[in-house]
Amino acid sequence: MSKHPTASTAGSNVSWNTAWRALYAGAVMNTFGTPGRVLVRGEGTHVWDVDGNELIDLLAGIAVNCLGHAHPALVAAITEQLNTLGHISNLFTSPAQVTLAEVLADLVFPVEPQFARAFLANSGTEANEAAFKIARRHGGPSRPRILALEEAFHGRTIGALALTHKAAYREPFEPLPGGVEFLPAGDVDALRSALGTDVAALFVEPIQGEAGVRPLPAGYLEAARELTSAAGALLIIDEVQTGMGRTGAWMAHHLLAPDVVPDVVTLAKGLGGGMPIGAAVATGAAAELLGPGQHGTTFGGNPVAAKAALAVIETIETDGLLERVTALGDRWATELAAVPGVTEVRGAGLLRGIGLADSVGPAPEVASELDRRGFIVNAPRPDTLRLAPPFILSDADADAFTRELADVLAGRAAA
Ligand SMILES: *Cc1c(COP(=O)(O)O)cnc(C)c1O
Repeated sequence: MSKHPTASTAGSNVSWNTAWRALYAGAVMNTFGTPGRVLVRGEGTHVWDVDGNELIDLLAGIAVNCLGHAHPALVAAITEQLNTLGHISNLFTSPAQVTLAEVLADLVFPVEPQFARAFLANSGTEANEAAFKIARRHGGPSRPRILALEEAFHGRTIGALALTHKAAYREPFEPLPGGVEFLPAGDVDALRSALGTDVAALFVEPIQGEAGVRPLPAGYLEAARELTSAAGALLIIDEVQTGMGRTGAWMAHHLLAPDVVPDVVTLAKGLGGGMPIGAAVATGAAAELLGPGQHGTTFGGNPVAAKAALAVIETIETDGLLERVTALGDRWATELAAVPGVTEVRGAGLLRGIGLADSVGPAPEVASELDRRGFIVNAPRPDTLRLAPPFILSDADADAFTRELADVLAGRAAA
């Protein structure tokens, strides 16, 4: 029985946002707090809420909608595939699945032709679950330890959660899978002393997105590769947020540490441009560690999600979007850093953390004020705003945000 709001139940001063949010609270588990607006439509980099308000989307569903909303190439690819063959399970395969796995192997491991294979999943947390299982298969009983970094975010399923640092996320679900230890991010000495022949793997994000868009310091990934190789441990790079062109390179580690070849790379978010898909892509011996029956998923690699990812990759290539991300990202970061009240701008390409001075914070309040003025951003930390817009963002929309941010921060500094 639907109890959808009507003009009479929503009241005379109708706020459909308020009416739907009230129903949400009764129908949807309270894992996300009170949602922002109730969105009903998107086109390009703009979205509309149920009350008809238009917003510029500078978050893209948290680094997901890299082609914006309703991109014709993505819509056409998904529609055509769904009209032809939608779902088949992994008792079968499809040209889309095989092609995507091949394309990802080349995108992730471009340095020299490498033997690489992909496991296709449905989300970032699942991509990391697959990588966790690869790490366990690599480690066996003699390598029970797995290393991750403080402030790391790798997802919310129990395995990925064991790799995630934040106590508030972990503690309600303990005991978590054992053997995971957290090291200070960027500390090579700590890594050196932690690594030994009892370590199966090190998980790292090249830029810690949920921690506030914090890149690892220069040289850390190179040291991590050298030290893990020496210890016989896998290097697993989580590119769920940073991958698929978000930083202007296909993978953030290509940009930050071009000589580093990890054993496993995990992807999701931008990969399907909004369709749910994730992947763990492995090279060398790591690509052979999961055998028949050792892992699986009913939906993983389904033709529609795979076709969506192929359309995303093709569009990024044909429309020169990596160059666009780099050019706009660099210019915008410089301009944002010059706004009074901004202390620094971190990140790369179109994944940016804007550090705010105490005098204009806290960041969640700034994000709310920007929302009221028609700009979607979020605040992953109390002192940081995050931008992760579609790659097709126009100069005009980027500049409009810069002006609006300056105005909001000036008002708050004066207050
Ligand atoms: C978002 C994210 C995940 C989890 O992805 P989901 O699709 O939300 O499960 C894992 N790792 C990183 C770095 C992320 O940003």
